[in-house]
Amino acid sequence: MNRLPQLTPRQRRILWLRAQGLSGPQTARKEGIAVGTEHYHEQVIVTRLRARNIVHALHVAHLIGLIGEQPDCGDRAAYLRHLRRRETPCLACKAANARHGVEQRAGRLGRQEAREAVQAPGARPNGSRGQSSSVQPT
Ligand SMILES: [Zn+2]
Repeated sequence: MNRLPQLTPRQRRILWLRAQGLSGPQTARKEGIAVGTEHYHEQVIVTRLRARNIVHALHVAHLIGLIGEQPDCGDRAAYLRHLRRRETPCLACKAANARHGVEQRAGRLGRQEAREAVQAPGARPNGSRGQSSSVQPT
């Protein structure tokens, strides 16, 4: 199982800013944090991605689709935002949505929907093709 490394939203933004070509100090300024703090987060990112340094980490992150089109890409809310704007979801958001789907099938989030489906057999309004709140990844 090739599981995506878990990064905090701040770490994802740092990764994104660095991928836009900003230096460490420039990224720190954008995020409103100390240069030392930014550096610490970089070290965490490097460790989580099992990279040798931040440049290597950026490369790895691109390869596995961890860097999205926008700084807060990479979670399901961002995925739904792409859909709302009729954009094609980027890799990072698709991966986040796929993770959500896995969790739902594992029964943690989908139980309520499943029960409703059982309680109302065939009570489907005409013309609606079983509108599901989960969006299938392509
Ligand atoms: Zn995205």
